[in-house]
Amino acid sequence: TSVQIVDDIAAAIEAKDGQIDAYNNYNIEAAREAAQNADLSLPLGGIPIAIKDNINVIGEPTTCASKFLEGAYNSPYDATVTAKLKAAGAIPLGRTNMDEFAMGSTTENSAIKATKNPHALGHVPGGSSGGSAAVVAADTAIASLGSDTGGSIRQPASHCGVVGLKPSYGRVSRYGLVAFASSLDQIGPMTKSVEDAALILNAISGEDKADSTCLDAEVPDFTANLGEDIAGMKLGVPAEFFGEWLDEGVKANIDAAIKKLEDAGAEIVPISLPSTQYAVATYYIIAPAEASSNLSRFDGVRYGNRADKPENMLDLYRRSREEGFGPEVKRRIILGTYVLSSGYYDAYYTRAQKVRTLIQREFTEAFEKVDAIVTPVCPTAAPEFGQDSDNPLQRYHADICTISANLAGICGISVPCGTVDNATGEKLPVGLQILGPHLGEAAVLKVAANYE
Ligand code: GLN
Repeated sequence: TSVQIVDDIAAAIEAKDGQIDAYNNYNIEAAREAAQNADLSLPLGGIPIAIKDNINVIGEPTTCASKFLEGAYNSPYDATVTAKLKAAGAIPLGRTNMDEFAMGSTTENSAIKATKNPHALGHVPGGSSGGSAAVVAADTAIASLGSDTGGSIRQPASHCGVVGLKPSYGRVSRYGLVAFASSLDQIGPMTKSVEDAALILNAISGEDKADSTCLDAEVPDFTANLGEDIAGMKLGVPAEFFGEWLDEGVKANIDAAIKKLEDAGAEIVPISLPSTQYAVATYYIIAPAEASSNLSRFDGVRYGNRADKPENMLDLYRRSREEGFGPEVKRRIILGTYVLSSGYYDAYYTRAQKVRTLIQREFTEAFEKVDAIVTPVCPTAAPEFGQDSDNPLQRYHADICTISANLAGICGISVPCGTVDNATGEKLPVGLQILGPHLGEAAVLKVAANYE
């Protein structure tokens, strides 16, 4: 029964989460109560689902893993995705750790704690949705929601050996998601299987009057094509995603995965997406620019941290923000305000937008020739804690395979495709990325299911 499932998850959390540190908080009692009244005829009836700590659940804290909000904010409303999950019968259970305000790719930027990779506790789970990936990998949740601005669903899914789907821009409402970079953010499922991802996408997709960027597009049944074979499908392999930066062990897994798809009847087509070589530079202008604007709402007045005894309004803003934000968030705000400042706007921001258009155009052209594109998710398997922590540029570079999809607004999935051994013989998962055209989730899921 649903109550048994909640009890099993509660026992698993009790047994393992002290070590993994993936949950920022959870409410088993509320989940058990919801389970007692679960309607099992609904598509997700009675299924507990963990939710990233930047997506609102009514009556519960949303921290964004930031000191700014921790202990200082309870959401007065459900995000649209939360409401839709509940309407499909699911039970929100627990909020998962993340990089502060979703800025990062290791979950080490959380102001609350470091989440460990369930496959190797000395390694990061990836990020920023590291908690959402770790709970699925550790079996302390059946499934979870993450958010993906530049890879934050797909990359931790890859590092933790689970399935992570970033829907197309506009497929899923972002009402109730704390905004990081509004032209890039999407919410999506992190699951054990491709079928689970399709079921959750079914539940959370669709138009929402509360988010004007959410499209009034037909929502097909995403489970419909999962069993179909992929014979005759054309899969593009872009040379730019296989640079000298790609770890050999990861590459071996990706090559084997592509071979497997070919053996299943897919036609492998070498393609080129030349402008994607500028994707990292473009993203790290656009995302911080939007973040600097979005995060201006954290001013010490409306919610969250408020500095003690301010001398005047400026002092209130300055000290509330100085105390509340961690170093990476400050770095992004400074970068963002710099590229938007009057002397530099054209040189950086306008130029980045032009490159973004080129990247979009190249993907559109590519999808005229191929049905989907297959690439690595990440240059390496999950790094150890502390690696590159003093070298943010190196960290940013590791997003090279994921951020183009956000810039282009297309969809993508990470599906487990093998492992590489670390120095002590632990098996670190590797994910295969499958990218599809805008609103082309069905094709991506079909290829992913076939691969599984
Ligand atoms: N790693 C990227 C960043 O730090 C992506 C984050 C995300 O997708 N939220 O911005």
